[in-house]
Parts: sequence; structure tokens; C-alpha cells
Amino acid sequence: MAEKTAADTPRSNFIRQIIDQDLASGKHQSVHTRFPPEPNGFLHIGHAKSIVLNFGIAQDYQGSCNLRFDDTNPLKEKVDYVNSIQEDVQWLGYTWEGKPRYSSDYFDRLHGYAVELIEKGLAYCDFSSQEQMREMRGTLKEPGSNSPYRDTAVEENLKIFADMTAGKYQEGEVCLRAKIDMSSPFMCMRDPVIYRVRFAHHHQTGDKWCVYPMYDFTHCISDAIEGITHSLCTLEFQDNRRLYDWVLDNISIDCHPQQIEFSRLNLQYTVMSKRKLNMLVEEGKVSGWDDPRMPTIAGIRRRGYTPSSIREFCHRIGVTKMDNQVEMSMLEACIRDELNQKAPRAMAVIDPVRLVIENYPAAHEEQLDAPNHPNDDSMGVRQVPFAREILIEREDFREEANKKYKRLVLGKEVRLRNAYVIKAERVEKDAAGEITTIYCSYDPETLGKDPADGRKVKGVIHWVAAEHAIAAELRLYDRLFQVPNPGAEDDFFATLNPESLVVKHGFVEPSLANAQAEQAYQFERIGYFCADSQDSQPGALVFNQTVGLRDTWSENDN
Ligand code: ATP
Ligand code: MG
Repeated sequence: MAEKTAADTPRSNFIRQIIDQDLASGKHQSVHTRFPPEPNGFLHIGHAKSIVLNFGIAQDYQGSCNLRFDDTNPLKEKVDYVNSIQEDVQWLGYTWEGKPRYSSDYFDRLHGYAVELIEKGLAYCDFSSQEQMREMRGTLKEPGSNSPYRDTAVEENLKIFADMTAGKYQEGEVCLRAKIDMSSPFMCMRDPVIYRVRFAHHHQTGDKWCVYPMYDFTHCISDAIEGITHSLCTLEFQDNRRLYDWVLDNISIDCHPQQIEFSRLNLQYTVMSKRKLNMLVEEGKVSGWDDPRMPTIAGIRRRGYTPSSIREFCHRIGVTKMDNQVEMSMLEACIRDELNQKAPRAMAVIDPVRLVIENYPAAHEEQLDAPNHPNDDSMGVRQVPFAREILIEREDFREEANKKYKRLVLGKEVRLRNAYVIKAERVEKDAAGEITTIYCSYDPETLGKDPADGRKVKGVIHWVAAEHAIAAELRLYDRLFQVPNPGAEDDFFATLNPESLVVKHGFVEPSLANAQAEQAYQFERIGYFCADSQDSQPGALVFNQTVGLRDTWSENDN
């Protein structure tokens, strides 16, 4: 991993305890895990939980972790997704063992194991229609019934399967099923389909196959072929563990990984299923998979999150078997804590109003020292230009205010961050009554120190010098949905937050002219921002708000 931080101190969980025992008892000499995404969408923050768990364990136990594309459904998968997944895993700071693997690498062997099951009388070809199969399946309360094809002779099954493989049957006409138990309390054990006919082009194997293995059959065998010791998956596969074990117990393979389930990450005010994320992209509700409002790794990255903040988040939420809904503020706290330490400070004005310092010489201009971090001298000092005309935040001025308002008020003083104390003398308004200019005086003796005569100036506001300020588009983000669990809604589009993106045309200080994409800054008194990796360029800056300075989410909830 590129850079280890405090966030990478391992924290124990029930899976690590199982591994500790397995190593202590000698069941395993080393640990081998895998991360098995299906390349049918971009990775999201839920996948990050699984990545940090699998790759983190491999790292901490000096084992290894494979990246394996679980690519048994050629209709929904794309090479673009294969590429984005690799990029995201690497960006998170992890390296997989050897080359990326594909379940499709094993199609030949999987086919051989299917033949082995047929030869052992443990699999049969079924010509029942989907409708008939559904009826024979039974329900959770009622056992299923045997298919009329269940007792077809081995020789006959071998011939049919060979013909299926040779393309002699249509899609849906026949499938291969494992012969297990139609009255099992576990539905997945009621003679599950293990191979089906699909005349589909595959992104890795091209047109070689017209039969494709099903996920449950593929996954356990792929794990075993790769010598995985602990196969970590989410809780919805709990029942399927019976099938995982049944397949490996009944084929000739000498590795039998242990499947262990943990609960999925659910994050409030967003959706996590790739199907739903894909709908948001397809319907144009967001600008793409990497829209900074998306819970995808690519989106969160573009928003300004760092790999270490995401790893830290995954450590903080922990790994258990309990269902959970994690608050967005948990994720935000991780990046805020990190950027508070690491992000250099800068000044930007989101909603500017003009301010003229009348007793400051018109032709004059100076460069003032501004520390890049208030508590970390090692981050150095930059220069910010100061002149007679500056821009401040419209909401940082009032003609009248009570004592609680610690900003600029007509007739009162305030400190300009990194500069002088000024006093508001009068304002100029347009025909509509809107303030166009605030006229002030300044005290030249107050640069970097309090007024000599003991005047107390509590408020500090930020500013940029009007002539040198650079226009910038500032994208402010809010939660993507208006309800905590939008995935549970029938029409989840209806709960989208229309204010999830607000675009402001503001100004930033000149030191940001060449701001690099994804490099974080704290815009003082506003929040953390980074230049947008797609849309920002010198001369046309675009900044994304990563997170605010304070936890406004929880405040809103109260
Ligand atoms: P989705 O429902 O979002 O499409 P998936 O489970 O179908 O997710 P896969 O590509 O199959 O997506 O997932 C790869 C791995 O990531 C699996 O081991 C899966 O269990 C894990 N994973 C997916 N979503 C989450 C989540 N929300 N929390 C934790 N792990 C997850
Ligand atoms: Mg899946």
C-alpha cells in the first residue's frame, strides 16, 4: 500500500478471530482471500467495506488477496466496468495477487465439474418450462416436487449436456440442475440450476460458449481453484452456504474454503444497489457513475474524499452480522477529521459583495503572509494580495445586528483574515435596495495584531482582493435523496433531493489558479473543496465541496 496511516491500524472483528484460531490450530499456514465483484457497474462504498476487509486481512496476516471478476452473466457485464473496478481498488491503496482473475478463466474446468456431477448421478438436464419449474419448487412452507426429468439416465444426460454445449438447444429449452433435495428447507438446495443456455457474446471468452454456469456453482469452485482459505461474503448468501459446501463436497477438488458471512453496509440518504445506481445514470438523474453525489468510489473520489478516509470509515463501522443503516455523518466525519489536519487553507468567496477601503491608497497593493495551516507551521506560508478593493461574503455584512452576529456591521469593526481590522462606514445600494458596495476604513496598525488602544475585535471574516480574485464555479452538494432509506420506496426517483447540487459563481484567491484535481483545500470558514477532475481547468476553475466544516447533517436531524 502506498501510504499507511493511523487509519490502517487493524481493528479486530469476528472474522479476524476465526482466522486467528485457524492459524493457531494449524488448519491454515497462511491466509488467502479474494474480492469478487461482478463487472456490471462501478464499485460503491459498500464494496469498499468488502475491499478493506479482504485486502486488509491479506495485508495484516502477510497473506494474499485475489481480485476476481465474477463474470457469469455476459448480458449485463462490460469491459468498461472491469477497468473502473481495477482503478478503484488500486486507488483505495490495494494490490491484488498476480493478475486479475476471471470466473470465465475457469469455464472449461467448471464445465468438466458439471460433467462429473452428471456422471455421479448428481446432476440432470431438465426440459421443464420456467413456469413448471416454479410450480415444482414449492414454497417456504411447502416442499417442492421432483421434476419428471430427475431420473433420466446418466448417459442420456451426458448426451443432452453435450448437445446444449454444442448449441443444439434454444435458450430456455433445457438447463442443467444439481440433484439435491426438493424438500430441503433451504430453497437454494431444491435442485438449483447450475448451467443454462445463453447465446451471448462474452467480454472475455467471446463466442466460445453458449452455455454459462450459474453464480452459486461458479463461485465456490473458483474459490477452491484459487486456494482461497476464507471466502467472505454478505449475509444474503447465508443459506447458499449449503450449496457452496455441497458442490465442493461432491466434485474432485482438494480445497474447501470456508464461507463466512457479514452484514452489508447500508448508508442513509443514498442507494447502494448497482441496479438502482445504473438507473440514476441511465435516466440522467446524475451526470454519470462518477457524479460527486453518487456513493460510488469514483464519485466520492471526485468529490474530494481520500483513500485513507474511506479506509478509516470502513474500520470505524466495523464488521459484524448485524443489519445496519450507517449515517452519512459517519462518512463525513472521516474526511473532515483528516482534512482538518492535512488540507492547506485558502480563501474563497461564494456570494460576493464589493468592499472599498477608502483610506487605503488607491494605487497601492501589498502581498500579505497567510499561513497555510493555523496549527502546522511545517505547511508554510503563502502570499495573498491585498488592495483597496476586496470582495467579501454578502452574508458577512449587516446594516444592523445584535451582539451574537460576529461579522461586519455598519459602524463596527471586524478583522479581515490574515489582514487588517476594518470598520464599515456606509453602503451604496441599487434601485432594488440591494447593497452594491460597502465603504470601510482600515487601521494600518492592526496587521497581524490587535488594535493598540485595547479595542476588542472578535469577528474574523474571509475575503479576496477584487482585482486578483479568480472567478470559479463552486459546486455545493447536499444529500442525493430526501429520505433516509430511498431504496425502500416504490418510486425512489420521487425522493431525489432537487437541491442536491447548487452551483455558485464565486471567486478564489490567486494561489488557486493551478489547483490540481482532487487536491483538498479548506476554504476558510466555508468548507473543504477540491478542483473537479473532469471539468476544472486553469482559466475555468470548478471546485467541488467535499464536506462542510461542521456536521450539519446531524444538526438537521435534531
Ligand atoms: P449490488 O447489490 O450493489 O449490485 P452485489 O453484491 O451484487 O452488490 P458484487 O459485485 O457481486 O455486487 O459484490 C462484490 C463483493 O462486494 C461481494 O463479495 C459483495 O458481498 C460485496 N458487497 C457488495 N455490496 C456490499 C455492501 N453494501 N456492503 C458490503 N459488501 C458488499
Ligand atoms: Mg452480485
